[in-house]
Amino acid sequence: MQLPKLGLVVFTFGNVSVADRNMGVFAIKPSGVPYEEMTPDSMVIVDFKGKVIDGKLRPSSDTLSHAVLYEQWNGISSVAHTHSTYATSWAQSLRDIPLYGTTHADHLTTDIPCAPPMEDNMVRGNYEYETGFQIVNFLKWKGMDYGEVEMILVGSHGPFSWGKTPEKAVYNIAILEELAKMAYLTEQIAPDANRMKDTLIKKHYERKHGPGSYYGQK
Ligand SMILES: [Zn+2]
Repeated sequence: MQLPKLGLVVFTFGNVSVADRNMGVFAIKPSGVPYEEMTPDSMVIVDFKGKVIDGKLRPSSDTLSHAVLYEQWNGISSVAHTHSTYATSWAQSLRDIPLYGTTHADHLTTDIPCAPPMEDNMVRGNYEYETGFQIVNFLKWKGMDYGEVEMILVGSHGPFSWGKTPEKAVYNIAILEELAKMAYLTEQIAPDANRMKDTLIKKHYERKHGPGSYYGQK
């Protein structure tokens, strides 16, 4: 319900799921149901292979992408996906989002990766399932840890995020949109803008993360 509230989706776009790792299942939004009509009862329960276990409605069309992420990554318990305007525009431009400032560095120390558009055989095959693998394989190929980088763009498509809780996955997808917007505006003001310097990147990330962190309340 936070996705439309935060202006990240229109109509029935987007989806969030939440896993129960002990039971090996996740709950996901039903397909094509407006957010304001959704209730806990309309959620669909699916296993990590994408098989519906419980629920009266059809699950989100992106369910298999979520299932692959849960199956491949033990450390996550929620996945979010939107077609929010700025993040999707970067995805359509097939560009990583450059790390231009401290807002970005507070969340991750690298550019936000953009996986290439999927190969034809993946698109013609089990498309949503392959989208999950495109995310997992690209992050691995980049040498990135899903615990450190909790957001990605899929080229020609849009943003995906994840986290240990649904609050964190939704926070990440909202932050991704904000960073995408700031990076876009930065390039409008300064087309030859440079990435922020390394000392600032390190400083800002360590303020919020790691042993010496001092941001927020303990
Ligand atoms: Zn999508």
